[in-house]
Amino acid sequence: PIYLDGFATQPLAPEARTAMLSAWDRPGNAGSPNAAGEQAAALVATGRAAVASLIGASPGEITFTSGATEANNLALAGVLRAVHRACHSRSRVIVSAVEHKSVLETADTLRSEGIEVIRCPVDKTGRLNVAAFAELADERLLLASIMLVNNETGAIQPIAEAAALAHRVGGLFHTDAAQAIGKIPVNVVELDVDYLSISSHKCYGPMGIGALYRASSAPAPHPLLHGGRQERGLRPGTEPVALIAGFGAAAAVAAAELARADHREDVLLESFLECLSHRQLRHHRVTDGHPTVPGGIALSIPGVDGDALCVALAKTVAISTGSACTSGQLTTSHVLAAMGFSAKSAKQVVRVYFNRYLDEVHVVLAADEFVAAAERCRLATGELRQ
Ligand code: PMP
Repeated sequence: PIYLDGFATQPLAPEARTAMLSAWDRPGNAGSPNAAGEQAAALVATGRAAVASLIGASPGEITFTSGATEANNLALAGVLRAVHRACHSRSRVIVSAVEHKSVLETADTLRSEGIEVIRCPVDKTGRLNVAAFAELADERLLLASIMLVNNETGAIQPIAEAAALAHRVGGLFHTDAAQAIGKIPVNVVELDVDYLSISSHKCYGPMGIGALYRASSAPAPHPLLHGGRQERGLRPGTEPVALIAGFGAAAAVAAAELARADHREDVLLESFLECLSHRQLRHHRVTDGHPTVPGGIALSIPGVDGDALCVALAKTVAISTGSACTSGQLTTSHVLAAMGFSAKSAKQVVRVYFNRYLDEVHVVLAADEFVAAAERCRLATGELRQ
């Protein structure tokens, strides 16, 4: 099948695969005082430097985790436990209504620890309501967590603006950049965030590895796990050397790819949408003109059930509805609901992403399959009368 499910995970970059195979072929614990250990530690250091460089951080500001889920948990639960204990006058956390569940549910668990959790609304294009955020961000603010790119719509959020509002009142700012990394340039200094979560597999690297960036000026979170001194005690456990090497290689490729100014992924997406129009398949971008990541979009196809379309395309084109973490649940996407979609209209939404390994031939084939499958789905639901 033609793989368009890049919001769920990206294909593995060949460079990441090569780096992992070579690391796996060499035994060595990065904590061991022998030559094999030193080699492993060197691979970890190289990986850390490449990941840091991709986001404009220094290597000491990177803590490897198992992925963005863990990084988000560490940023919210770990930071709040560390800071709230020291400063009881601040107990407010602001998250946006469209965050990934790993942010929303972690924040919700903190209510029992005396934290006030507020969900900031978004507008109908999925953009953070900055005026509402500014009102909520007062001197009670402890931490705000707003994602850089949404995983269901690709919408890019005004993070630098929100971070400045949080800092103005002395609050801390975290952003979940899992969907931004490798898709758009991300620079922690320009964004001026205190914490930032990333995931390797969303950036053409292996699954099972990610990182939390913490600005050297920001408070250290309480560790979620206890044990060894790896990752300066913040994330104990033997470093997964090969995964880190793969993540580092993927990050290095991503930096080079982002320097290309040809907007290839976006050209492919636009060409796909044009093909749909030529073939008279009605569709709307759910973000309606709001900026999204190059190559990625959520589309509403009137009269077509998104889940049925994914199934009808299963053998030829890989797409998905909503988030892979919640698909299979029969509830309406919390992201689309927050954007004002009814349960019925939310069911007509699918997301596609054109990755760097695709070309125009894939675009035309995918569009042909997409239109034919959408028509079959419409016929099946009796929407298309012939
Ligand atoms: N945040 C966002 C925005 C995501 O899209 C995802 C992956 N679905 C995650 C966090 C979780 O990332 P990971 O799979 O690395 O735990």
